[in-house]
Amino acid sequence: MRNNKYIVGNWKMNKTAVEARQFIVGLAPKIKQSESHILLAVPFTALQSSVEAAKGTSLRIGAQNVSEHSPGPYTGEVSAGMVRDTGATFTLIGHSERRHLFHESSVAINEKLKCAWAAGLQPLLCVGETLTEKQANKTEETIARQLTEALAGITKEQVASLLIAYEPVWAIGTGLVATVDQATEVHRFCRHEMAKLYGKEHAAQQPILYGGSVNGTNAAGLLHHKEIDGVLVGNASLTVDSFSSIVNYQNLQLQKIASAH
Ligand code: PEP
Repeated sequence: MRNNKYIVGNWKMNKTAVEARQFIVGLAPKIKQSESHILLAVPFTALQSSVEAAKGTSLRIGAQNVSEHSPGPYTGEVSAGMVRDTGATFTLIGHSERRHLFHESSVAINEKLKCAWAAGLQPLLCVGETLTEKQANKTEETIARQLTEALAGITKEQVASLLIAYEPVWAIGTGLVATVDQATEVHRFCRHEMAKLYGKEHAAQQPILYGGSVNGTNAAGLLHHKEIDGVLVGNASLTVDSFSSIVNYQNLQLQKIASAH
């Protein structure tokens, strides 16, 4: 499960259905050579057109959130089953913007994970500390709590398809990127916590992505580290050129080496 890198775009509240289609049509020829898993988390309203546009490519389409409820009287909510019905195959869960701007609780995140699995969606769980937590040396305590609470009652069978993204809140949308050392230290800690929860064998297979101001310039440095199984990309996933340059990070590295000689 950890052989190929994951490159995941998160469009947040950007792009109409038509813009999504145009993006994917433009992206498709540029990602043909890539051996990475390439995923795009799009707005609910662009799911259908994105799934259709991505047919015949290796690109996987998913949502940025799902409801923690089963279908019923929840005005304005979108269930995991509805997302799956569009042909989408994954969903982000617990993104820091959901946790902080929309006050998503760890109980809700746990329910959302259960709903995602029940509907056949692969969840990508986001965890990460705020700047205040980092400055108070509470990064590990925060990550351990977020993982334990999110995964309460989740079985070994379910967790086998889980993706985790470590996204320090202070690095999201700020232009501040964690150094490779900072990211890998927390990745190792996540793996250690997953071993406590699900055993060493599972932990060794657990894909852990990094997110926070990743772009075409810093992606290669992060992705070449064996502890970093992929990247979750916000801003830089919004244009075909910047997203495809991250997908093709190996070419960037080669270009740099060539221009240095
Ligand atoms: C994100 O949305 O998960 C993210 C990491 O955003 P950005 O790349 O813009 O920091």
